[in-house]
Amino acid sequence: MSAVPPLEPELRLAVALLHSYWTLQEPADQLSVARLRAAGRELGLATATDALGEADLPALRALRERLYEVFAAPDPAARVVTLNGVLAGVSAGTAVEPAPDGTLRLGPLPRPDPVGPFAALVTGALARAAVTGGAERFGVCAADPCRAPYLDRTRAGRQRYCCELCNNRAAAAAYRSRSRRG
Ligand SMILES: [Zn+2]
Repeated sequence: MSAVPPLEPELRLAVALLHSYWTLQEPADQLSVARLRAAGRELGLATATDALGEADLPALRALRERLYEVFAAPDPAARVVTLNGVLAGVSAGTAVEPAPDGTLRLGPLPRPDPVGPFAALVTGALARAAVTGGAERFGVCAADPCRAPYLDRTRAGRQRYCCELCNNRAAAAAYRSRSRRG
């Protein structure tokens, strides 16, 4: 069983970015600079978020989209490949790679790109979470039409839904379908 990744501030900021889009909220896209700055101040990461401006919103949405693809990739190996693709664009020099013993470790990256400290911060947090907990812990909610990304922080690592609400919706749907059959 893999370790539960600690909920460090950088990881919470990554989750705040990812969860700014949710099919089940109105409007679905609630990303704003004010919202990210508020999250950054609350988490003690204002140096990364106060630098963001309205002009950065398209780049932030693109980053969110790319990070979402890490969670939505079909299997753990594909998630690592996708994550490394994002890291290659944003980090000053980190990649997730297989260690000789089969676990994942952080290794150096030769191609830094100036996308910004914020992108490096949140992507780096996801990379550390992958190294600590394994890419099996990245997933998207199985309750249609949600598809929200989640990082499984349960001990057993068998999470399928993004939140209690979706868990309950899925349980109710399964109950209805059983009742119809019976
Ligand atoms: Zn959900």
